Amino acid sequence: MLNTCLLSPEKDPMGAAIADYARSGKAARLRVFSSQFDEDEIPVKELFRSEASMPHLEQTALKLATGRILDVGAGSGCHSLALQKAGKDVHAIDISPLSVEVMKQRGVCHATQTNLFSEQFCGAYDTVLMLMNGSGIVGKLENMPLFFRKMKQLLAPGGCIYMDSSDLKYLFEEEDGSFLIDLADSYYGEVDFQMQYKNVKGDVFDWLYIDFQTLSYYAAENGFKAELIEEGKHYEYLARLSQV
Ligand code: SAH
Repeated sequence: MLNTCLLSPEKDPMGAAIADYARSGKAARLRVFSSQFDEDEIPVKELFRSEASMPHLEQTALKLATGRILDVGAGSGCHSLALQKAGKDVHAIDISPLSVEVMKQRGVCHATQTNLFSEQFCGAYDTVLMLMNGSGIVGKLENMPLFFRKMKQLLAPGGCIYMDSSDLKYLFEEEDGSFLIDLADSYYGEVDFQMQYKNVKGDVFDWLYIDFQTLSYYAAENGFKAELIEEGKHYEYLARLSQV
C-alpha cells in the first residue's frame, strides 16, 4: 500500500531539523532507526547543500531537467533553488509541513505540501526529479505499478523522470567478493526507517533502494524504459525513465 498522507508538525522530525537549521544555522542530531541497520544520523547541513557541493549525479540531473519541473520530496529546497537560479520553472512538493514552510522562506517560488501519490495531485510536467535515493518514496517493489501509473498522470507528452538510487548488494558482500543474498527473503533493497529529532519522533516508513536491473524490469512491465545516465563510485546511479 502506498502512503498518501501528509505529515503533521508533531510527526515531522526531518522538517523540525530543517526548520532549526534554517533559523539558526545549526541543528541537533537527526537520528535514523531501522530494523535492518544500526542507528545512524543524517547530517542536517547536507540537506542544505549548494549545487557545487552536490554529488555529481545530482548535478547531472539538474542540468538535464527542462521545461516544467517537479521536485519530489524537495526537503529544504536545495535542488529547487539551484533550478530557479538557472532560470528554470520548478514546483517543489513535500509531505513535510515544516520543510515546505522553510522552502517558502528560502525563496522557492512554488512549494506546496503535497503527497506525490495523492489522488487529487495531477499535472503535466516535462521533468520529474526524485533525488537523494529518490526511489525511496516508492517504499516497496510491489508499489512500482502504482508509481508508474502516477507518473503517467503527471508527465507531459515526451516528459521523463530522473531518479537516483543505490544497489544495496554491497551490504551482502563476502570476503571473497561474492554476494550472499537470500532469494527467499523480500527484496534486499526494501528497508524501513524511523527518524527522531529532539523529542519529535516520526512514524516508521518503508524506503526502497533499487538496483538498475530491477528498476528496468519494472519500468518495462509498466510501459516505461529505463536508461542508465550515470554511475557513482559506490553502487549509486542516476536513471532516466520515460514512457515508451
Ligand atoms: N530531495 C531532498 C530531500 C530528500 S529526503 C534532498 O535531496 O535533500 C526525502 C523527502 O521526501 C523528505 O523531505 C520527505 O518528507 C519527502 N517525502 C517522503 N514521501 C513523500 C511523498 N509521498 N510525497 C512527497 N514527498 C515525500
